[in-house]
Amino acid sequence: MLGAGISGLCAARALSGFFEHVTVVERDTLPETSGVRRGVPQGAHVHSLTPGGAQVLEEFFPGFTDELAAGGGTLAGALDELDIVFFGSRLRQVPLGRVLQVSRPFLEDRLRERVRALPGVRLRSGLEATAPIATGPGGVSGVRLARPGQPDSFEAVDADLVVDAMGRAGRGATWLKSLGYQEPSAARLRVDVAYASRRYRVAPGALGPAKGVLIGATQARPRGAVLTQQENDAWVLSLYGFGRDDHPPGSPERFLDFAEDLLAADTWNALRSAEPLTGISSFGYPASLRRHFHRLRRIPDGLISTGDAVCSLNPIYGAGMTVAALEAKALQRCLDDGLDGLPRRFYREAARAVRLPWLFSTMADRSMPQVPGTHPALARLLAHAFQATMRAAADDARVATAVWNAVSLTGSPAELARPGVIASVLRHWSPGAAPRTAATTDGVSRGKD
Ligand SMILES: Cc1cc2nc3c(=O)[nH]c(=O)nc-3n(C[C@H](O)[C@H](O)[C@H](O)COP(=O)(O)OP(=O)(O)OC[C@H]3O[C@@H](n4cnc5c(N)ncnc54)[C@H](O)[C@@H]3O)c2cc1C
Repeated sequence: MLGAGISGLCAARALSGFFEHVTVVERDTLPETSGVRRGVPQGAHVHSLTPGGAQVLEEFFPGFTDELAAGGGTLAGALDELDIVFFGSRLRQVPLGRVLQVSRPFLEDRLRERVRALPGVRLRSGLEATAPIATGPGGVSGVRLARPGQPDSFEAVDADLVVDAMGRAGRGATWLKSLGYQEPSAARLRVDVAYASRRYRVAPGALGPAKGVLIGATQARPRGAVLTQQENDAWVLSLYGFGRDDHPPGSPERFLDFAEDLLAADTWNALRSAEPLTGISSFGYPASLRRHFHRLRRIPDGLISTGDAVCSLNPIYGAGMTVAALEAKALQRCLDDGLDGLPRRFYREAARAVRLPWLFSTMADRSMPQVPGTHPALARLLAHAFQATMRAAADDARVATAVWNAVSLTGSPAELARPGVIASVLRHWSPGAAPRTAATTDGVSRGKD
């Protein structure tokens, strides 16, 4: 297992049921305590784990949600303690269970501890995977490792299966080329999104009853804000924007100015007097990327890629970790049928896990005029469809439930195609109609959208 991010840790859990020994190799020297690390700089930004992702982690590690909540994580009522505005309309606050809210480093630390405790699993950090070892024409039989920056320190490790969970850089794909295979084709959608985030300590109650506020970008205002209560009562505010003119500022003086038009006045004022716990972290995300491993004609045995190495989704939709966990589930199912032809079977299943999140996120992005490459008429149609769906979700509990189940990757997206839901959306289909932001639960902060 190469990479100890979310996909590497979940896949290690899947492998541990089938192999006597699983070695997880991580380039970073892993921290003893929670902190953003070099290999996962996105850890400074809000990392929402969807209920669908939490469900998979719970299946892999029973009691995980309660453990994190007991360790300080926040459990927020979905949707009654969340204030969510998508495409200008506020999602009706139907009670639909609970959402775990923690920082990425905290989540990863706890997951790592669970993985370390699995029988036969060993974690080796401060080691970089540099190249696959080939077994003649048919496959891969191991990997070369070295200490970062010290290529002479290499060691060769044999393995029945090498799993690339090294993130979106795509080493697994280029390794295929070095082994004489084709690299997978890839779909890219340029989104030019940038993030800026800061953590705060806020006086109890100062932010009102909502434990999370999510104000999504709209076609007219391609900026968004996510404010989430995480472990130990710290809050993280992540701001983002599409296109250079709407990238959030990285300077402490201007950071909150960007949020003034996004957040409710009382929320914004509470943040102005809150205690910053960190500086401001910035992150540029140029393009969503999906590699079509499932379409390769020839694939070597003994090597698979997973997680962001297969598909990196625009982070504003918060689905990347869930897709990584679902791919690990797919790997577990494929291993049930042995190692024969595993890569092809796995990529077919992984493509199923990726398909809908990729479709939803790229369709939503294509509705933004700032995202190039979509015919303006199609972009307008998509914009109307998302706006009408969200106007309906503001009024109609069935539509709100279907939308939440789709974005949280819990239910089947087919719920959105139910006749009652479609009829409700069509009733709200009126291009140019005002968004629906009426209050649905007393006392929750309202965005100025
Ligand atoms: C700004 C931002 C915000 C995001 N917000 C969310 C969110 O709210 N919700 C969500 O679900 N997802 C979110 N994501 C996506 C999420 O971070 C990823 O989808 C998820 O982490 C899965 O990634 P991964 O484990 O495949 O790769 P990574 O998280 O990138 O992990 C790769 C690991 O491999 C290691 N590595 C790299 N090269 C080597 C090597 N040669 N040898 C050994 N180890 C190596 C790295 O050090 C790292 O530990 C966000 C992403 C960004 C950029």
